[in-house]
Amino acid sequence: MPELPEVESVKNGLAPLMEGMVIVGVDLHREGLRIPFPSKLAQFLKGCRIESLSRRAKYILVHLDSRKIVVLHLGMSGRIFVKPDIRSYALSKHDHLIVHLSNGSGVVFNDARRFGIVYLIDSDALESHPAFKGLGPEPLSKSFSGPVLLKKLEGKKIAIKVALMDQRVVAGVGNIYASEALFEAAIDPRRAAGSLREKEGALLVKTIRSVLNKAIASGGSTLRDYRKSDGTLGEFQHKFLVYGKDGRPCPRCAKGGKAKSVIQKIVQGGRATFFCPVCQK
Ligand SMILES: [Zn+2]
Repeated sequence: MPELPEVESVKNGLAPLMEGMVIVGVDLHREGLRIPFPSKLAQFLKGCRIESLSRRAKYILVHLDSRKIVVLHLGMSGRIFVKPDIRSYALSKHDHLIVHLSNGSGVVFNDARRFGIVYLIDSDALESHPAFKGLGPEPLSKSFSGPVLLKKLEGKKIAIKVALMDQRVVAGVGNIYASEALFEAAIDPRRAAGSLREKEGALLVKTIRSVLNKAIASGGSTLRDYRKSDGTLGEFQHKFLVYGKDGRPCPRCAKGGKAKSVIQKIVQGGRATFFCPVCQK
């Protein structure tokens, strides 16, 4: 499932190819994905100019000159890519939505498992839309800080790892990056969320940003390289410190042959957490 860095990289890859273009046609090859496509989507989009692309949580927002926003979610398996000459492009099996642009290119939404979502929302109603209402701060924005995080965690007895996955606490930090950020901050994922001290809150904000930014940087290069060949998006080449590393020596404290410094896997809130029980306190 694409996490925030993948979505950010997809958005960054699409933006220069879509911004400023006028939508000249829309092909819908089915009724919808996880939910039906917005009614009259094709009629509405035709003639609209794409002003800019942005991201909120794991959603890509396509801002139109009609004061509407097309909101895209990749679901489990969704891919969005631009084909420079869409008329010569042979459709593949799961290409469900094609948006034709004024320069002859086309944006393809391909989704084998069909958990993706397309919304059409008025720009001034975005924050009150059910998908966005109550969302916590963007982890990469200035509105996310140590004090803001601690305020959100105040009095919470649930584990800090589980709290970080709560979209009301911070938007879009998924399972992998919650484990990685807690490891880098040397905070035990099992600790009560409300027990974090001021310094730890500030450090955790810093490590959340750094793990996300590192992943975006690696995804960005993957995206550019891969687009040269066929315009689709490459898989991320992740280099995780603890995620999926259970049974391996801890990359921080295993030096010196400490037998207990082995990455553990536990389940919290139904999701796997990876951590070092020795150096994460
Ligand atoms: Zn360790």
